[in-house]
Amino acid sequence: MVTNDTERTALVLGAGGFIGGHLANRLKREGYWVRGVDLKHNEHQGLLVDDFVIGDLRDMDVVARVIDHDFDELYQLAADMGGAGYIFTGENDADVMHNSAQINLNVAHEATLKKVKKLFYSSSACMYPERNQMDPNNPNLAEDSAYPAEPDSEYGWEKLFSERLFLAFNRNYGLDVRIARFHNIFGPYGTWTGGKEKAPAAMCRKVAETEDGGEIEIWGDGEQTRSFLYVDECLEGVRRMMNSEFLGPLNIGSDEMVTINQLAKYAMDFSGKTLSFRHVDGPLGVRGRNSDNTLIKEKLGWAPTQPLRDGVAKTFRWVKEQVQNAQHS
Ligand code: NAD
Repeated sequence: MVTNDTERTALVLGAGGFIGGHLANRLKREGYWVRGVDLKHNEHQGLLVDDFVIGDLRDMDVVARVIDHDFDELYQLAADMGGAGYIFTGENDADVMHNSAQINLNVAHEATLKKVKKLFYSSSACMYPERNQMDPNNPNLAEDSAYPAEPDSEYGWEKLFSERLFLAFNRNYGLDVRIARFHNIFGPYGTWTGGKEKAPAAMCRKVAETEDGGEIEIWGDGEQTRSFLYVDECLEGVRRMMNSEFLGPLNIGSDEMVTINQLAKYAMDFSGKTLSFRHVDGPLGVRGRNSDNTLIKEKLGWAPTQPLRDGVAKTFRWVKEQVQNAQHS
């Protein structure tokens, strides 16, 4: 590793992925020396990082090799994850739990051993109890509503376990941690096809692939509600949290709640097409979800404000390009 004494160092685990890629580039632009690690290269965006290691973080030797000094900041974003089509079907439960838990166990141990100065862990809104998310118009996702625990997926249970794991390392070994619960982050350079894509990219793809006058499929009645946060605002929240004294867990999400039908309509509006929606059976997740931003405003004096439509416009443009490239290749 070549870095001068004054340069701050950051390690981004999961830099081959969507948020990790954006984060690694932002840290570079802020002047950090950055190492990224992932199972794969970032296929959607060029990374400006100083070092990129292809490695499997389930393997303790790999983790020991990439955490080779007391990094100023470590961002643990690597996880076996995907959208509803990946985490709610039940078929991937064992992998999701085993792979992500193993990564987090390895990272907590090694970060403590190497005296990493500050560690960020990305949990998820999927750890909130299902019972508070039955009413699409009035979900309760305040941070302190997490217990008694009852996530609706094994993905959510693993996130809850790992939140507790990092907090235990904080209490017992002094590992300085920050824990955020992300709520549906979206934007360009994310997975847009193949089964692991999430709703915003999936809607943009379906709209981009369909001829004017045609129809697109929506899972369920489309009246399930969610909020979606544009990736730039997510990173702003992460960086502000890292610079704050608050350990978390803290929601990082938008509180502009929409139905999935509305989300699809936004994508359709930007396409200039008129499409109809066909509602089909599919994995759905909870009925209603929205970020509660009371605590983030209190702790960081800040919360996301960008309208969903603006983020969907940028994402649609990018996904449309990907669809066109795929059609011409
Ligand atoms: P992503 O799938 O694009 O990125 C995760 C990356 O982790 C992938 O590139 C994957 O290859 C890598 N990874 C998986 N297993 C690995 C292993 N064994 N070794 C090394 N790398 C491995 O997902 P993302 O959307 O960028 O999410 C980043 C983090 O944020 C994840 O922890 C996710 O659970 C969390 N999160 C994301 C959202 C969202 O809406 N995107 C919402 C809540 C929480």
